[in-house]
Amino acid sequence: MSIHHSTAKIYDNLTVYSPNDIAMFRANRDKIEFYLSNKLAEWRDHCSIRLLFQPKGLGHSKSQKQFFMQERENRCSVCGSSELLSRHHIIPACYRKWFTDKKNLNYHDIVPLCLDCHLQYEKHCAYKLKRRLAHKFKAPINGLPMNGEHYLDCVTGRHMVCNARSLVRHRQKMPADRIKVLEDKLTDFLGHQPNQQELEVLAESRKYNGRHLMLTHGKKVISHIQDQQQQFSRIWRKHFMRSMRPEYLPDHWDINFPIYYCD
Ligand SMILES: [Zn+2]
Repeated sequence: MSIHHSTAKIYDNLTVYSPNDIAMFRANRDKIEFYLSNKLAEWRDHCSIRLLFQPKGLGHSKSQKQFFMQERENRCSVCGSSELLSRHHIIPACYRKWFTDKKNLNYHDIVPLCLDCHLQYEKHCAYKLKRRLAHKFKAPINGLPMNGEHYLDCVTGRHMVCNARSLVRHRQKMPADRIKVLEDKLTDFLGHQPNQQELEVLAESRKYNGRHLMLTHGKKVISHIQDQQQQFSRIWRKHFMRSMRPEYLPDHWDINFPIYYCD
């Protein structure tokens, strides 16, 4: 796998305040910019913003609030280096993206690692746990081909994208009977005769490209664990702790930290 490091900081440590001026949590610049550009907040001073709406309670316990309010350090969680830092997802993104609840507390499980520590964990440790999960849930790391109806839908869809593309690009040079064949196929597929605009949209569609023909390893594993996502997260957190023995994790970091807001 490739790991992106950056010379930019992992944490900007800007603070978000409620309208009644209570410090709520720390955030990175991109999140701050999201609030500002959507007119949901205003600058309070150069390192904090104030929300312009009353947020729902975040439902954190005291130690969770302390976790979210602390200033986080831009250094490797394992060795303490501040060089060549990258974001490490303790619960790999290939699983986390299939977790059910959107309000998840991903921030807890993204920690800085230097490139050396990151490569060491991904190449020599994480891979072993992934292989064990692949075996347990019959979920090959490279994914499984889809079968049945979904597969057929995708194959047909891909043909229809090609047909639409041919019409959009080459209609002028096509014999009339060929145009009719393609238009009839598209009409059957869509359930109505497409206009030029629909053809152009379909011609550029990526909805039926290759990756949709695969059931990914992550999706299959999560489909098996369903409501055991908290325990599943614990397995990855424990695995990271045992394999790397990180000495510089943030205060209040906890293998039992909830994965969702509990409001
Ligand atoms: Zn390191």
